[in-house]
Amino acid sequence: MRILDDFEYLRPSTIEEALELLGELGAKASPLAGGTDLLCNMKHRSILQLVPGAGSPQAKFKAAMRVPPIQKPEVLISLADLPELSGIKKESTTYWVGPSSTMLEITQAAKAPAAMGALSDAAGIMGSPLLRARATFGGNLINARPAADTAIAALAIGGRLTMVNESTERVVAISDFFTGPGTSVRQPDELLVGIEFDWTDNQGSAYFRQGTRRQLEIALVSAAAWVSLDKDGTIADARVAMGAVGPTPLLSPGAAGALKGSQPTPETIAHAAQAARGDAKPIDDFRGSADYRFEVVEVLSRRAIELAVSRAKGGKA
Ligand SMILES: Cc1cc2nc3c(=O)[nH]c(=O)nc-3n(C[C@H](O)[C@H](O)[C@H](O)COP(=O)(O)OP(=O)(O)OC[C@H]3O[C@@H](n4cnc5c(N)ncnc54)[C@H](O)[C@@H]3O)c2cc1C
Repeated sequence: MRILDDFEYLRPSTIEEALELLGELGAKASPLAGGTDLLCNMKHRSILQLVPGAGSPQAKFKAAMRVPPIQKPEVLISLADLPELSGIKKESTTYWVGPSSTMLEITQAAKAPAAMGALSDAAGIMGSPLLRARATFGGNLINARPAADTAIAALAIGGRLTMVNESTERVVAISDFFTGPGTSVRQPDELLVGIEFDWTDNQGSAYFRQGTRRQLEIALVSAAAWVSLDKDGTIADARVAMGAVGPTPLLSPGAAGALKGSQPTPETIAHAAQAARGDAKPIDDFRGSADYRFEVVEVLSRRAIELAVSRAKGGKA
């Protein structure tokens, strides 16, 4: 059985109190949202992580030794009593999502614009029904995994993250947020307090992922697309983001370039999907080969662009 190490549990009732604790404790503390990453990481003792040559007979003895968990905060700061971090607000040109909003709340949001389709797709596909009722958007972004479903969707749609500490507030474009697998520009004393997107009626987005099974599986490859159409149907602006084909969620400048200023014909979309493949940087790992990921990212990019265009035109999802 995997046992948690000791930790202190604090439950602030205001954001100010939470920020004061984070300012005082820094990296010793972790905010706790749904806990579906954090608690697993606090239990998970990755033998592969620390034992060189894991799997070989030489490593067998070392592998049996106790190794530390992936994350070991001394203090968990629960966000459960901070209602300001939850909720979804649709204004005339902006869409605000609180970081503590769950995947279920995101998929159930009433009248989400077509521009936000990718986020809803990604939130609706994650984990299992049980997980979606608990896992939060903020947790998925801060975990900063290259395959984090809603992070890929948010990157394509082009969100802005508001981060606060005791003394300052800053807004970070999501394209500047991720720095490596599991790392971001977030500082230990900062709390993510909101994610905001711009939207208009002539925009659409979509997200697709491929795993080795349909549920309870981290994406083997994923792709999201966002498009903004002119009145005559020309693609005025576009972004294609890819998951699990690089060290962070990746944007494809090639795909965006192939789409901008063109009519969304099958040829243009196929060309953009090939460009996405060209921008992918997958590796071989135990879940799939780089060659397979190159193939699939092209297919998923094409499907995501097609659906994003259809949604931007008011088509059914
Ligand atoms: C069975 C299972 C299936 C899963 N399936 C998927 C899947 O299909 N796709 C996928 O992408 N992920 C999946 N995950 C991973 C996980 O569920 C998601 O990443 C989830 O969105 C994390 O959200 P959370 O609220 O549980 O975060 P937590 O575990 O509470 O926190 C995650 C990290 O974010 C930090 N944090 C949370 N909120 C804030 C905030 N407001 N400000 C600053 N820091 C914050 C925490 O300190 C922690 O470091 C799965 C996990 C499990 C256990």
